[in-house]
Amino acid sequence: MPLVSIKNELLRARQGGYAIPLFDTYDMNSTEGMFAAIEERRAPVIAAIYSTWMDFPWIPAYAAYIRARAEKSPVPVTLYLDHGADFEQCMRAISLGFTDVMYDGSKLPVEENMKNTKEIVRAAHAMGISVEAELGHVGQGSEYQDFAAQRKGFTDPELAARFVEETGVDFLAVAIGTAHGVYRGKPQLDLDLLAQIRAAVDVPLVLHGGSGLSEEQFRAAIKGGISKVNVATDLYRTTGRRLVETAQKEDGINYQGLMKAAMDSFQERCGYYLDLFGTTGKAPCQEF
Ligand SMILES: [Zn+2]
Repeated sequence: MPLVSIKNELLRARQGGYAIPLFDTYDMNSTEGMFAAIEERRAPVIAAIYSTWMDFPWIPAYAAYIRARAEKSPVPVTLYLDHGADFEQCMRAISLGFTDVMYDGSKLPVEENMKNTKEIVRAAHAMGISVEAELGHVGQGSEYQDFAAQRKGFTDPELAARFVEETGVDFLAVAIGTAHGVYRGKPQLDLDLLAQIRAAVDVPLVLHGGSGLSEEQFRAAIKGGISKVNVATDLYRTTGRRLVETAQKEDGINYQGLMKAAMDSFQERCGYYLDLFGTTGKAPCQEF
């Protein structure tokens, strides 16, 4: 089916108490592995391109490939800009056929984040595109002990309510104790804070920094109101290890063999998260 905005699926997920993963895929092998996983599990998914990759010259062709590939798939697929840097980048993504965009102004002063988000929401909505923004700031796992472990950057529930109201944003990324990349130390989630944010706003909530949480933490966060979980680092690390193992184990390994290993690794790992988040079986399927 054609690419679709994830908005309806996220509203269904919020209603149904499960979450939809966002996977930052990077190339055809990772994308094909992801497609194999969602098709065998009949699951909706968000395929994302990360902000800093948007300047690569192959991105327009890659976005066109995901669009064409989604059309051949019986499950809903969304093409999403992850951590959009500014208005211009969000608009460029939309011009390339992305169906939803995240604008990340979380490092800016709140009023500036709010002003920029509002501008992007207005333009995106005029084109039928949904927008995610981040309030509070999800930092880096390498700085976990100095930042999130000390509750720095956490989302304020009252401010969240005002932010959603004033910007008209469709989904809100929250900071409740996660971080991007590899965690230094053990991540701790503030589920009470999540409950307060959930009570204060009625848009689907997003958890960034999924790589490194325990299964129990994922389940608790989803039960507590998270409807979208971003996963990237774990996919890359798992697949990196698989490539090294494959190269060492198999005699006469060649480039094609490694590409197949990358695809298989993405298929398995994406499948693992789809099962864990309760996304499996949730696609409103169209036979084709
Ligand atoms: Zn993120």
